[in-house]
Amino acid sequence: MSGDDATADLRGRVLWAPRAWVDGRWQASVRLAIDAQGRWAEIAPGVAVGPDALRLDGPALPGLVDAHSHAFQRAFAGLAERREGEHDDFWSWRDRMYGVALALTPQALRAVAAQLAVELLHGGYTQLCEFHYLHHEPDGSVHDDPLEMSWALADACADAGLGLTLLPVLYERAGFAQPTLRADQRRFATDAAQVRAMRDAVRAARRPLLDAGVAIHSLRAAAPASIARLVEDLGDGPIHIHVAEQTAEVDDCLHSTGLRPIEWLAAQRWLDARWQLVHATHATPAEIDAVAASGAGVVLCPATEANLGDGLPDLPRWLARGVPISVGSDSQVTRDWPSELRLLDYGQRLHLRQRNVSAAPAAGEPSTAARLFERVRVGGGAAAGQPRWGLEAGARADLLVVDGADAPLLGVPAANTLDALVFSSPGRPFRDVMVAGRWSLRGGRHPEEAAIAARFERAMRELWAVAD
Ligand code: ZN
Repeated sequence: MSGDDATADLRGRVLWAPRAWVDGRWQASVRLAIDAQGRWAEIAPGVAVGPDALRLDGPALPGLVDAHSHAFQRAFAGLAERREGEHDDFWSWRDRMYGVALALTPQALRAVAAQLAVELLHGGYTQLCEFHYLHHEPDGSVHDDPLEMSWALADACADAGLGLTLLPVLYERAGFAQPTLRADQRRFATDAAQVRAMRDAVRAARRPLLDAGVAIHSLRAAAPASIARLVEDLGDGPIHIHVAEQTAEVDDCLHSTGLRPIEWLAAQRWLDARWQLVHATHATPAEIDAVAASGAGVVLCPATEANLGDGLPDLPRWLARGVPISVGSDSQVTRDWPSELRLLDYGQRLHLRQRNVSAAPAAGEPSTAARLFERVRVGGGAAAGQPRWGLEAGARADLLVVDGADAPLLGVPAANTLDALVFSSPGRPFRDVMVAGRWSLRGGRHPEEAAIAARFERAMRELWAVAD
C-alpha cells in the first residue's frame, strides 16, 4: 500500500487499482469503493485515480474460497510420507490420521488452525469451508459446551482474519454394513438433530466473518434415513458431502444400494445449488450430467487427491457441463490455490498427453489459469453459501494485491500475470490480502504471524512427543 499505511480498516473508503480482475478478466484503472459493512459498494473500471482513493501497489485479484478443509490435519502434513509395509493407500493413511484426531485438545486445535489460517491467507484464500467432525472429548464424551471444538476453529480464523463457513458433519457409522462407529471414530459421533443444532447455534452467535452450513461425511458414514432427516426443510446454506473419492467406496455403495454414490444421490432428488460434492473423483459421464442438471457443485482437492492416490476426475467433462467447481486444501499438504489449479491441469496433461486441457479457445478462453480461476471464483462462492463472490458490488470486500516483484512475475507481460502466477513456481505472489474491508496481510506479513507460529510449534512438539 502507498498512502495511508497505518490504516488496517478501510471500510467506508475508496481504493484504486492499476488493474483488477472484474467480470472474469483484467480491466484497467479500477475504482473500488467499500461500504461501512465491509462489502463492495461499487466497482468501476476505467476511472482515473481520484484524490480520495488509496492506490494499490499492484494488480488486484479476488480472494478465493478454500472450499474443503479438515484444519486439524495441518498437524499431520508431511508426516505420512513413509511406507513401512508392503502396501500404503487411503485407508492405511486414514488409520494413522485418526491417531492425530484422538490427541488434539481444543487449545491445540486452535493453535494448529490459526497457523493454517495464516498460511491460507498467504496462499490467496480469504474464506475457509471447514468440514468439521472432530467434535467430542478424546474419550468420546460430549464437551460441556458441545461446540467447544467449533469455537476453537472459529477463534483460530478470527485470530488470523480469515472468513469461515463451519460445516458440522453428520457421522454415525463406520461403513455401509457397519451400523456404529469404530472405537477410534468416537470423537466424530453425531446425529441429524445435533448437526442442525450446531449449525443454528453457530449462526445465532452472529460473529463477524463466521457462517455455518451442514455436511454429511459420506454415504458410507450416514444412513439414508438420517441424511433425509438432516436435509428436510433445512433452509438455505451449503450442504457438503464427500462422495466417490475411492473406488472401494463406489463398490461398497453399489453392493449396498445397487447404485453408484453420485447416481444414488441424484436419484433421491435432493441435489440443488446448495449441495457440494467433495472429490466426486469416480464419476461416470451420466453422473456428471445428472449433477449438472441439478445445479450442485463439485469441490476438487487436487493435491490431497494426488497425495492419497484417489485417482483423477474427468475435469474436461465437469468443465464442459458448466458444473460449479471449487478447490479445497483438504488434508493441508498444499495450502495455496495456484498450486491446486496447476495440479488440476497437470493431472489431465499427464493422463491425456496433451497441454492446456482446461483452456477453451473456441469459447474465447485460451488461458488455462484464467478459465480455472474464474470457474473456481464463482464455484467457491457457492460452496461457502455466498451468492456474490469477487470484485462486484454487494460481494464481501476481499481482495489480493499481486506482488509484481515476486520472482515468477518479474517482467511478465500484464496479460500473462495469472498464467505465470499459476504455472511458474515457487513464488509468494500476494503482497496484501484484504478480508471484509480490512487488511489481514500487508507487505507479505501477518501482524500476528510470529506468535501464531510459536503456538503452532509448541502444539506440534507436544502432539508428536505424545504420539511417539
Ligand atoms: Zn475431506
